[in-house]
Amino acid sequence: MDTEIGSCIWHAHAKINLALHVTGRRADGYHLIDSLAVFTRFGDRVEIALADNDDFTVSGRYAPAVPLDASNLVLKARDALRREAGPSRTPPISIKLEKNLPVASGVGGGSSDAAAVLRGLAQAWALDLDDAGLARIGLSLGADVPMCLAAKPLVARGIGDELSMVPDFSALGLVLVNPGTPVSTADVFAALSRRDNEPLPPLPRSIDFHSLRNWLEITRNDLEPAALALQPAIGRALSWLNKAGSGFSRMSGSGATCFGLFETGNVAKRAAAEIRGRQPDWFVAATRSMPSEAE
Ligand code: ATP
Repeated sequence: MDTEIGSCIWHAHAKINLALHVTGRRADGYHLIDSLAVFTRFGDRVEIALADNDDFTVSGRYAPAVPLDASNLVLKARDALRREAGPSRTPPISIKLEKNLPVASGVGGGSSDAAAVLRGLAQAWALDLDDAGLARIGLSLGADVPMCLAAKPLVARGIGDELSMVPDFSALGLVLVNPGTPVSTADVFAALSRRDNEPLPPLPRSIDFHSLRNWLEITRNDLEPAALALQPAIGRALSWLNKAGSGFSRMSGSGATCFGLFETGNVAKRAAAEIRGRQPDWFVAATRSMPSEAE
């Protein structure tokens, strides 16, 4: 959180599924997953200030792709918190969303915006809600909101809401690449050929660039083959990452955003500049992941 005069800025991090195994499906249709996820410094920004009237505006590169009506997760989060706390404790609020993350792109931008709004409003309204309370309200908005509230390296199981934090996980150098093609999460899940895959193998005892890369080689994103068949541009994003020197490249979530893993931030920045030069219309960002402990 950063403070400006009269307002606070909250960071909505991109969620990157380093590995994602689909392990089953519940009777209600929700898929069961086993996923190692990290969250990046690069993301959306949410500015929150007390105001005379409720207000919501969106700026940034991806603003045109975001709904402004009640279906926006920012407004769903505001309204859910207001229902929980009651109108007398939740006065009018101005929310400005800077939408820097591509929409429907597998990095959980909407869920992360909702998480930032829950944290921001809980503080602006001085509500007495602990992390478990926020996670409960977050889960009512979407399965990925609790993990976006945590925003630290973690393993997510169940429908994505059973979280185990991973300790001693340093920041990673990452490049995110999206070829500009939205992918519907529902379409990708519907196209899966199998839903009963084995869970993730145990994590390495000590996580560094090399042990993580070796571990990633024996894991998968089970959504990648289906997403690739629906959107072949994902294959081009992966091959650009590989050509630019990524130590390991994979699609995140249901796509189409792909990540490349780099040993240092400087190498990641150079690779991002190279890909951006060749694909100026794509979304390309060099960033670092949030570590498990403050670094
Ligand atoms: P998931 O994997 O959770 O589906 P995603 O990264 O693929 O996440 P999002 O960018 O979160 O997808 O968008 C999913 C849908 O949510 C979009 O179709 C969009 O219209 C809707 N949406 C609602 N609020 C937002 C928001 N604040 N930002 C982005 N999308 C939003």
